[in-house]
Amino acid sequence: MAAPDRKARSAQDTLALEAGEPTSGRPRPVASRRVPVLLPLPLEGAYDYRLPPDVAAEPGSFVEVPLGGRTALGVVWDPPENPDPIAESRLRDVIAVKPVPPMTESLRRFVEWVAAYTLTPPGAVLRMAMSSPSALDEPQATGGWRAVHPLPEGVRLTAERSRALATLGDAVMTGGDLAREAGVLPGVIRGMANAGLIAPALLPRAAAFPRPDPEADSPVLSEAQAEAARFLRDSAARRRFEVTLLQGVTGSGKTEVYLDAIAETLREGRQALVLLPEIALSTQWLSRFERRFGAPPALWHSELSSRTRRVTWRAVAEGEAPVLVGARSALFLPFPDLGLIVVDEEHETAFKQEDGVTYHARDMAVVRARLNEAACVLVSATPSLESVTNAEAGRYARVQLPTRHGGAALPEIRAIDLRATPPERGRFLSPPLTAAIHETLERGEQAMLFLNRRGYAPLTLCRACGHRMQCPNCTAWLVEHRAQRRLACHHCGHVEPVRPECVECGAEHSLVPIGPGVERIQEEVADLFPEARKLVMASDTIPGPAAATEAARRIEEREVDLIIGTQIVAKGWHFPHLTLVGVVDADLGLAGGDLRAGERTMQLLHQVAGRAGRAEAPGRVLLQTFSPDHPVMAALLRDDFEGFLAAESEQRRPGHWPPFGRLAALIVSSEEARAAERAARDLGLAAPSGDGLQVLGPAPAPLSLLRGRHRHRLLLKAERGMSVQAILRDWLNKVEVPGNVRIQVDVDPVSFL
Ligand code: ADP
Ligand code: ZN
Repeated sequence: MAAPDRKARSAQDTLALEAGEPTSGRPRPVASRRVPVLLPLPLEGAYDYRLPPDVAAEPGSFVEVPLGGRTALGVVWDPPENPDPIAESRLRDVIAVKPVPPMTESLRRFVEWVAAYTLTPPGAVLRMAMSSPSALDEPQATGGWRAVHPLPEGVRLTAERSRALATLGDAVMTGGDLAREAGVLPGVIRGMANAGLIAPALLPRAAAFPRPDPEADSPVLSEAQAEAARFLRDSAARRRFEVTLLQGVTGSGKTEVYLDAIAETLREGRQALVLLPEIALSTQWLSRFERRFGAPPALWHSELSSRTRRVTWRAVAEGEAPVLVGARSALFLPFPDLGLIVVDEEHETAFKQEDGVTYHARDMAVVRARLNEAACVLVSATPSLESVTNAEAGRYARVQLPTRHGGAALPEIRAIDLRATPPERGRFLSPPLTAAIHETLERGEQAMLFLNRRGYAPLTLCRACGHRMQCPNCTAWLVEHRAQRRLACHHCGHVEPVRPECVECGAEHSLVPIGPGVERIQEEVADLFPEARKLVMASDTIPGPAAATEAARRIEEREVDLIIGTQIVAKGWHFPHLTLVGVVDADLGLAGGDLRAGERTMQLLHQVAGRAGRAEAPGRVLLQTFSPDHPVMAALLRDDFEGFLAAESEQRRPGHWPPFGRLAALIVSSEEARAAERAARDLGLAAPSGDGLQVLGPAPAPLSLLRGRHRHRLLLKAERGMSVQAILRDWLNKVEVPGNVRIQVDVDPVSFL
């Protein structure tokens, strides 16, 4: 990949550049006194500063520098190849070097790489690597007390004081702890301090994260698991870049196998990073980790408190967090010696970040592993066509686990043809599905209904005038949430109360819900199975880790008979008593039909199906569909994921669609409809052309209005091996974009909305 442009510039002023000082024929400034500093701001390059004689810094040092009338934090970057000819006397001084380990060279290269790949200013990527600025300061040592030796003369030693001194011994304790443990009032401790019996001392800083013990409790692996584990262990021990695709059916023990590779990384004294698509929902994973290693991992996700962020960031930088589990942003943490990166459920689209810096964490994990000479393991029961293609081309190693652990059988998957056995009018569950639920509950087992739609109904329609309730800010229908008595837009968060009359024609009681969401299924189920204990799992009912833990506990302890859920239920849950999975609308994800609609539907349904029958009792899965012959349904019924991928490849290869070619999207948006349209048209007129290149669009985006912005899309398609970044840079340079128009560049787009 092309190196990013690195233009050093003085923060003081850029006039020196225009003054045209000659670059040759004068002595080069002492390199070490002049340092480029990259700031976590959307700037194209580093700014030069001067290092005062008493300040020592190296590339990677975190520094505080003046910027305009304020100060900013940044990182000393690597000296540019062609330094700008700004007189050193014009540079402003670095104020201080922060007391924290410098950013490693591999992380600096990673920041540059991501910036160049995603066409983002390096400073904007750096910002993700400096997500906890307060962690750069020395953590404040909390005050404690120590005994003074020898005891000062003439001080009265009461029984309480003696007891406190005996409790303290040679240790350092906080006043509160000392009072509590010695059984005295806090006033006694204060008196001792005033009398000079005890003196202030710094408490030793407790390790933020206990070390996971690689030998704590490793399970006996089956032969196939052991072989897979050996492969990954060897890979982790080789201390070099290598990617392995770990593919195994749901419940085959993939997690146990990669935990073994983590153990090996710990033995090697290196750090391991595990990326999970929905970290807030991964409570079962976390307790499993703790069982295996006798200690919890460090966590990284958007819901951490700022204090936890600070402690975690610093612990990672100091090598004190041997294993970190996180969301995609964890890729930018300052690991000093990262030996292994695991990407679990590597096919998940949640790894693609869509706002700000648009990057795919699975792909960037591979890049970070390469820059760190680390092993990378991509894990899935239904890997992406991208990863499978890389494995088949020999770029990735591939390890497979073909059977479930402990002899559990894979669930039997059957279609319910909704044309032949439709639900009753106004209902959504067909007779065969309700019969199966009935049998399952009779046996005392659990059933799960999957529908990837939150709320009560996805559309509200006026029977009198045909008006559809729509979001004022987005090209989207408002979704009814009946429990809260309101309509909500799932794109922008707009909400309004459910009204008794139509906003358009004023007709009363004419609004009807069209189609089901999970709340409506719950209502139907409550009617059909009044005795069953139900649980709805959707992002609004399971908002965070605490709710997820509680939901998992209730299901495991059989306080729930029937689970109704959105894609949340498809995650890696292990519920031993769950034997029936019913998919309410298997065709749902196929509508709209972007490039990967089939692949995604396959992955999602396979994943949901994989929740059934994970222990002794066999599982079954029923798919309600109007098109049982669709290739996706047919492949699911035959349990032929490989065959499906092969067919998918054959469809995408001739047209050079990913992964056999490359895509980049430009999303042009503005609050002014005309401005967005004009900019999109200008981009279209300047579109690159040539062999192996194609530009589709401009066209109004499917979500042509989003959060009040009018949107148009262009799609660049290039043959594999072409540098789409270079093409995009040239293209964007040709077009002048007015200030009220934003162009978002999305390299390797996942969403086409
Ligand atoms: P996957 O990640 O492939 O879906 P898991 O690793 O979650 O599979 O394993 C499924 C279940 O089987 C889990 O409860 C796990 O603890 C259990 N399991 C897998 N392998 C073993 C083993 N070797 N010994 C004991 N339990 C195992
Ligand atoms: Zn909206």
